[in-house]
Amino acid sequence: MNPYISITSQLNNSTTQQLPTGRFAPSPSGRMHLGNIYTALLSWLSVKSRDGKWILRIEDLDPQRSKMEHALMIEDDLKWLGLEWDEGGLENYGPNGPYIQSLRHNLYEEALEKLKASGLCYPCKCTRADILASQAPHESDGRVVYKGTCRPDVIPSSYKEVPGAAVRLAVTDEEITFVDRICGPQTVNLARHCGDFIVRRGDGAWSYQLAVVVDDALMGVTEVMRGDDLLLSAAQQIYLYRLLGYVPPEFAHVPLVCNEEGRRLSKRDKSLSMEYLRQHYTPEEVIGMAAHRAGLIPSPHSVSLQELIQSYM
Ligand code: GLU
Repeated sequence: MNPYISITSQLNNSTTQQLPTGRFAPSPSGRMHLGNIYTALLSWLSVKSRDGKWILRIEDLDPQRSKMEHALMIEDDLKWLGLEWDEGGLENYGPNGPYIQSLRHNLYEEALEKLKASGLCYPCKCTRADILASQAPHESDGRVVYKGTCRPDVIPSSYKEVPGAAVRLAVTDEEITFVDRICGPQTVNLARHCGDFIVRRGDGAWSYQLAVVVDDALMGVTEVMRGDDLLLSAAQQIYLYRLLGYVPPEFAHVPLVCNEEGRRLSKRDKSLSMEYLRQHYTPEEVIGMAAHRAGLIPSPHSVSLQELIQSYM
């Protein structure tokens, strides 16, 4: 496969043959809040209004932050709200499991071998501090662009194992274009946006980008609906879809729910956490709050999922 051809991803072409398949992919690092419910609700409605299926995948790649008790709580909160999944979850129900990322090591390993065989991977021992030190001051807008310190002079090149090194994937200097269902047409140049990126960390942990692509592709996901903080990640993911020979899903990035100060919700916003919401409201009232924020109903009143499906269609 020639990685130097231009990418215009063929979004949505898998949806014609397949049942619309969406997914909710929470990281079990804490209790959910209204922002998570908002994303889950929109993704659920999008596929359920077209008789599609909805997958629950537990993204527990970060062993320090992921806890089983949080995953159990996420499931309990989703069930309380009536947002039931057709596949996945901790019980690993369905044909494309396991649905818990920490159990999918072999699948990521296979994908990594494929990427290494493409000649685009190289070992990298740069620390975050090294990378930050190599940034020009005007680029310090929080985004870290890898300058290619460890990149071999010639790409493609065969991968040489270096113990303890991260595996980095070389990107091409080209425009990746895709049409987000909510944010519209996007053009991202990976060389300028992030540079060569890590697919496996030096400590062996899998990168989010690699795992999410392998999972969404193998689980037959046709639409990825999630917060718009991940909008630009879609370009990295489209690049990986192409290298791994998969068709990308349709992407729909929803605006993040903000608190009264206009900042994205976090665990500090206790009054919008599921713990508080469950103590003070009914499931239909919480669904109503999320639906109102999404502009689906004119005021935050109690509403059932069935009513929302009817109006969503
Ligand atoms: N696991 C990510 C999160 O909880 C979501 C990733 C995705 O939807 O692609 O923010």
